[in-house]
Amino acid sequence: MKKGHEPLPAGVDPCDRPGHGHQPLRFEEARARMIAAIAPLVGEEIAGLRDALGRVLARDVHSPLDVPAHRNSAMDGYALAGSDLPPQGHASLELAGTSWAGRPYAGAVARGQCVRIMTGAMLPEATDTVVMQEHVRLENGRVVIEAGHRAGENVRPVGEDIRRGDLALAAGAVLRPAQLGVLASLGVGQVAVRRRPRVAIFSTGDELVAIGEALAPGQIYDSNRYSLHGMLTRLPLEVIDLGVVKDTREDTRRAFETAAGQADAIITSGGVSVGDADYVTETLERHGRVGFWKVAMKPGKPIAFGRFGQAYFFGLPGNPVSAMVTFYQLVRPALLALAGAVDADPPIIVRAACATRLRKHPGRLEFQRGVLERLASGAYTVRSTGHQGAGVLRSMSEANCFIILPLEQGDVEPGTEVEVQPFAGLV
Ligand code: AMP
Ligand code: MG
Repeated sequence: MKKGHEPLPAGVDPCDRPGHGHQPLRFEEARARMIAAIAPLVGEEIAGLRDALGRVLARDVHSPLDVPAHRNSAMDGYALAGSDLPPQGHASLELAGTSWAGRPYAGAVARGQCVRIMTGAMLPEATDTVVMQEHVRLENGRVVIEAGHRAGENVRPVGEDIRRGDLALAAGAVLRPAQLGVLASLGVGQVAVRRRPRVAIFSTGDELVAIGEALAPGQIYDSNRYSLHGMLTRLPLEVIDLGVVKDTREDTRRAFETAAGQADAIITSGGVSVGDADYVTETLERHGRVGFWKVAMKPGKPIAFGRFGQAYFFGLPGNPVSAMVTFYQLVRPALLALAGAVDADPPIIVRAACATRLRKHPGRLEFQRGVLERLASGAYTVRSTGHQGAGVLRSMSEANCFIILPLEQGDVEPGTEVEVQPFAGLV
């Protein structure tokens, strides 16, 4: 039995274990197994608010104060005691002064008086109501208010947004612009964020050439490292780019070791299938541990997951579209789990009428690339980006969504409803 494999019951052919031999693993099971295998990275650091954008909050943040800390006006208008509102007809009140945002009215407000007040300004003590300026008349220096107002209107109470001691943000939250705003509103200038996992990447393939070099016959530019770098930098991770590795057993093993020596996770592209120059799965089998390497999805049937040393290993297929699809659908959630992010971006799925015919064989879950549009009627429609070949990267660059077609689904006729996962929030 190969190193690192779990023992199998007697009589079971190792080649028939789902995900290993002929039998690919179901997509949902592959994703669940990846997430279950991952332990969030420990370690945290302090970050200033601006630098905390996109990072994972390491500890719960309880509010040190009430927000707002003072009763204040939601409108520009006139502050008065609700008991001075006229039950019918109108009331004529004396203007005692002005309360500005940040410059409260310092005097007392007697019965029959009101105070000019701006949005965000503190309410004077004896007042509890703000009448919008559009609803009053000024006559001979007095403020005339008609009946029909409600005591307490247009006032923001203390703690309306967040109360002192409340849980403002939970550990594991990914800090987005709104969360930075919430922290700033609490006067919090620094937060504990989780350490970013270090992710080492390299491409495998003798045919790969760096940008800037001329292409000899049979050579192509290494595009995967760029799309992968782009996808990774959207996540709370540190990327270590180890370049291109030749298709030899020795180069592949050395690259694995270099990567495992400095990273918490390793992501490669290419070499995970069963061709004569595919050394990635073999290296993982011999020197690491293979979780699985075959998933019933398209594109991306060969995708290896396992461990190498202490590092988690993700071997993406070489075809550029397959590499991107498997990254978004399987690797991204796993990396977020490694980064300690909780409930980050559960995929949004919408239903849309498919405007084009889609070719599909039953047997694999497919992530076709589509263009989702909202019609004037408010209904959604989706069409294919066209040629869906695993090497046709334009199908990704022209798309704004994945069309998700279930395992058993066959061809899709125009007009059929399909499930669509928008790229917004994902890419
Ligand atoms: P492989 O998975 O190594 O068999 O590669 C499958 C296909 O993807 C082949 O056509 C490769 O030339 C292509 N490919 C592999 N790696 C890359 C890369 N880094 N950038 C662009 N294409 C690649
Ligand atoms: Mg290759």
